[in-house]
Amino acid sequence: MAHAHAHAGRGPTVTASTYPVWGWGGPDQEPEPAALTALAPVAQALLGFDLQAPERPAPLQPLPTPRLAAPAPLAGIASAEPLDRARHGLGRAYWDLIRGVRGRIDHPPDLVLRPRTEAEVAATLDWCGQAQVAVVPFGGGTSVVGGVEPAMEDRFAGVIALDLGALAGVAEVDPIGRAARVLAGTTGPNLEAALGRHGLTCRFYPQSFERSTVGGWLATRAAGHFSTGPTHIDDLVEAIRLITPAGVWASRRLPASGAGPSPDRLALGSEGTLGVITEAWLRVRPHPTSRTGTVVAFESFPAGAEAVRAIVQAGLTPATCRLIDATEAALTGTLAGGEAALLVGFEAADGPPDAELAAAATLARDTGGRLVSEQAGAAAADAWRGSFRRAPYLREQLVLLGVLVETFETAVTWDRLEELVDRVAEATRAALAQVCGAGTVTCRLTHAYPDGAAPYFTVLAPARRGSELSQWAQVKAAAAEAMLATGGTITHHHAVGREHRPLYERQRPEPFGLALAAAKAALDPGGVLNPGVLLPPDLPGSVVGPAMPLT
Ligand SMILES: Cc1cc2nc3c(=O)[nH]c(=O)nc-3n(C[C@H](O)[C@H](O)[C@H](O)COP(=O)(O)OP(=O)(O)OC[C@H]3O[C@@H](n4cnc5c(N)ncnc54)[C@H](O)[C@@H]3O)c2cc1C
Repeated sequence: MAHAHAHAGRGPTVTASTYPVWGWGGPDQEPEPAALTALAPVAQALLGFDLQAPERPAPLQPLPTPRLAAPAPLAGIASAEPLDRARHGLGRAYWDLIRGVRGRIDHPPDLVLRPRTEAEVAATLDWCGQAQVAVVPFGGGTSVVGGVEPAMEDRFAGVIALDLGALAGVAEVDPIGRAARVLAGTTGPNLEAALGRHGLTCRFYPQSFERSTVGGWLATRAAGHFSTGPTHIDDLVEAIRLITPAGVWASRRLPASGAGPSPDRLALGSEGTLGVITEAWLRVRPHPTSRTGTVVAFESFPAGAEAVRAIVQAGLTPATCRLIDATEAALTGTLAGGEAALLVGFEAADGPPDAELAAAATLARDTGGRLVSEQAGAAAADAWRGSFRRAPYLREQLVLLGVLVETFETAVTWDRLEELVDRVAEATRAALAQVCGAGTVTCRLTHAYPDGAAPYFTVLAPARRGSELSQWAQVKAAAAEAMLATGGTITHHHAVGREHRPLYERQRPEPFGLALAAAKAALDPGGVLNPGVLLPPDLPGSVVGPAMPLT
């Protein structure tokens, strides 16, 4: 129950727990001060720098009074409740956590609307277009790139968060073609539970699986945790349905099509700027019945990368082919001996994939790897899996103990991989030394392709309370410059959002930027859909908000 008291000029101060605004877990999973105090010495010993006393989350600061009221037909699906507005003012990046813990919501939406039908989505878009109200589509709110933060210019009469949570569930299953029609607000666990009743799985597990939604995955071109094969949501989608201000955009269910540019390709990664995804047909499959895996130790990260390349170029498609550098292997309890760890695993629904594992192990040995004993390998793989699942929970605990903890990721061709990893790690370490005085940078390869791989970096450093946002902004800027300079993309799967927009503009062809802006102008003539995401400020149909608040 929220308690409130009046505050001049703004809404009431809310003193209820703000954990639902910034936290990952359920209401009973908010980190307790005693547990944090117990964690601190363990974490400090592992990280090698001083942690701080557990921070007590501050009450929610008063929000500005909403500038809007929903028109009568939409009033029943609108909320102006302060914690609800606050929750829809943040994603889940480090700077979202910091601001959430401090009770500071820089850009709350005026209202949260939860449509229950496509007709209500369309009515909301009609109202917003006519009244010049900006619309931020909101799935699970796990964006780490400012995709759901309603930061935008004053030219709008207001801004609403369009929460798709009430449009959820599996509406239809085609067991013959192995596909399912899924509503956009369906979360990972709910999707799998519904498909499980048909003996099927989508087999799509991003690390944010618990909270993120099908619509969010499609809108950001998310990637699951499998390292090879169909692991991007792009690979798993058969048809997409969007509601745009210009009408319904629904692609046909087809196994493949050569009919011109693909409507699905334009919808994928559109990040709420072209329309609201309401449902999609996703490819599904039977559950795998066997799994097998091993762990291989390498003296160096580049040697491990050679093995990954050999495995994928041999045509093998391991479910797991994750190379973890020595520091991350030690931090996660995967391998303690100062070696890089390669986790290789196969899955199959038609008998044990032992031959594939043997072939991968041979290639890994041929490139200098040392197979870890079966028992040690199983323990290492368990340790890794556990740390992967716990990561979102551990992250918020570390943040409360004064640790700057964040990740960023990219992809690059094999010929430039070693240079990129070295230069990005070096630039990030140098920035950390300057800005935080210490810190650790680790790297793993999360996804592997015949022509390249996706390096994923984790940063852990002592933060200075009150300066975290500018500290991280400086470190991230150094890392991003190094990534672009060495031929990487600004994101492999975390998306563009508001944060990466200027960097995305530097890597995409300029005529493509013009085509995208023209598409937006045609679909969203009022420019109300997620302004400031993907498109630059000076193109028609797009109005950009202030850059992400970095100070
Ligand atoms: C701890 C953690 C782990 C993560 N792990 C992964 C990972 O393994 N792989 C990965 O790819 N990403 C990962 N992410 C990033 C994030 O989870 C993904 O970008 C995810 O796809 C976002 O889904 P969501 O439902 O939370 O979308 P939101 O965060 O709500 O929205 C993301 C963007 O999509 C738009 N959007 C959302 N729903 C719709 C819709 N129905 N129609 C139109 N636009 C819409 C929003 O406007 C916004 O621009 C992680 C994030 C966190 C915090």
